[in-house]
Amino acid sequence: MLKNSIRTIPDYPQAGIQFRDITTLLGNAEAFRATVDQLAAPYAGIGISKVAGIEARGFILGGAVAHQLQAGFVPIRKKGKLPHDTVRIGYSLEYGTDEMEIHRDAVAPREKVILIDDLIATGGTATAAISLLRSLGAEVLAACFVIDLPDLQGAKKIRDLGVPVFALVAFDGH
Ligand code: AMP
Repeated sequence: MLKNSIRTIPDYPQAGIQFRDITTLLGNAEAFRATVDQLAAPYAGIGISKVAGIEARGFILGGAVAHQLQAGFVPIRKKGKLPHDTVRIGYSLEYGTDEMEIHRDAVAPREKVILIDDLIATGGTATAAISLLRSLGAEVLAACFVIDLPDLQGAKKIRDLGVPVFALVAFDGH
């Protein structure tokens, strides 16, 4: 059901990429609710105090999951968007590099945090987000995604960092 609610756009944003578009999932009340419920369920009652979401689709999912877990929400943003003192990290994308930031006071040492994004591909984005959270002393208990692209081995990369990965659906290929 969830998988069928995700739309695939071939050759977007460039030739060879199968873009997994979750706007159709978000717009489907039943699918959106089921997604948030399934992402939150394993982490209920274990003392998660913050949910960190990666801009921009991780904000939509992470905010809803945080509400469900009665946790706070922490945005991890593209550089230059957060107004207070930040910690910044560079990371590689398929073509080129980018930087992301978190507020220095967003998480306290030893706080239990889960990380949320819509999709894990190569794992570069999630690796950078985990580094930011750990640099503030957070305990990152899991990295959670709606979609895993297992052929790209990003989830393995995250598990090798000692962070369990939880994903609701998988698609073959890129
Ligand atoms: P990566 O750093 O390679 O794991 O890429 C993950 C980030 O890029 C996530 O924030 C995704 O939203 C986005 N992304 C990468 N590949 C795709 C894809 N095939 N369809 C949709 N979004 C993607």
